[in-house]
Amino acid sequence: MSPASLSVISDAVSVRVPAKVNLHLGVGPLRADGYHDLVTVYQALSLYDDVTVAQAATLEVTLRREGGRGADAAEVPLGDDNLAVRAVRALGEWADRDPRVTIEIVKRIPVAGGMAGGSADAAGALVALAALWKLDIPRAQLLEIAAGLGSDVPFSVQGGTALGTGRGEQLMPMLARGELHWVLAFAREGLSTPAVFDELDRLRADHSETFPEQNPRPDELMAALAAGRPEQIAPLLHNDLQPAALSLQPGLRRTLRAGIDSGALGGMVSGSGPTCAFLCADADAAVAVAAELSGAGVARSVRTAAGPVGGATRQTPGR
Ligand code: ATP
Repeated sequence: MSPASLSVISDAVSVRVPAKVNLHLGVGPLRADGYHDLVTVYQALSLYDDVTVAQAATLEVTLRREGGRGADAAEVPLGDDNLAVRAVRALGEWADRDPRVTIEIVKRIPVAGGMAGGSADAAGALVALAALWKLDIPRAQLLEIAAGLGSDVPFSVQGGTALGTGRGEQLMPMLARGELHWVLAFAREGLSTPAVFDELDRLRADHSETFPEQNPRPDELMAALAAGRPEQIAPLLHNDLQPAALSLQPGLRRTLRAGIDSGALGGMVSGSGPTCAFLCADADAAVAVAAELSGAGVARSVRTAAGPVGGATRQTPGR
């Protein structure tokens, strides 16, 4: 291979980044800094965005929606507000380099869907640019930059199954035996994460007994995950943001009911929603639930996914 063709290959770096679901999302009181204290159990799922970074004259981002199933029409900014752009700028500052790169995002994770799609792109851009620039950056430092970009970004880098505390950015890897099989129901309209948190604050102010602020660690769920038994895990799925998401999109109640009626072991709104995630007994059950749920007409689209999967991972060129 000639040096020229070698440099063409090393000129672009592609990273695949997973979506996440929160198996437990406990929301504590509002903090003085405007964030809520969270206790959450993340799992990375086999639904991915791809982020490719290459040297260029100027910093630019392009976005291609793929599949028409995970993607949707919701707005993604292509300027400085894009989380991948913010990520390359942050790494540029750390490395004291001008991030003149093109960022190409292939988007399959629903936008404003409660599956950390924007965070995934930020994580992908960080890992890709660190590789493109051959930076010798310690993992802890990369995770710190990730945390500065958003609460879910460190988990998008790490993947797997993890307990998140603080704003969700402090991670502890968790033991989760075996593979869990999920069905994801994507909604027609997105939900803004800040709007869902605001709605929870409003519900709590009006009905403090129904929506308490205690936020214990989900020990029972953690034990069930370690045992790897979906039927034990399903009744322990919990999301404090669900009532707020349902209040803003009441139609999600029908989606949740339809998933259970289709044979899922359990279901919940994913993160701040509106994607609904259903845990199934095994891969065959997930395919059957997805088929029935598709026919029920309660979602824009439906697909299966498995977890846990790894975090942001560099793709080998030529594959
Ligand atoms: P989370 O689960 O982390 O709360 P989400 O999955 O609900 O987030 P995102 O898809 O991350 O939501 O998008 C939230 C908003 O962030 C979008 O409405 C969009 O305006 C903005 N955004 C910025 N960069 C991106 C990106 N690369 N991909 C998607 N959205 C982005």
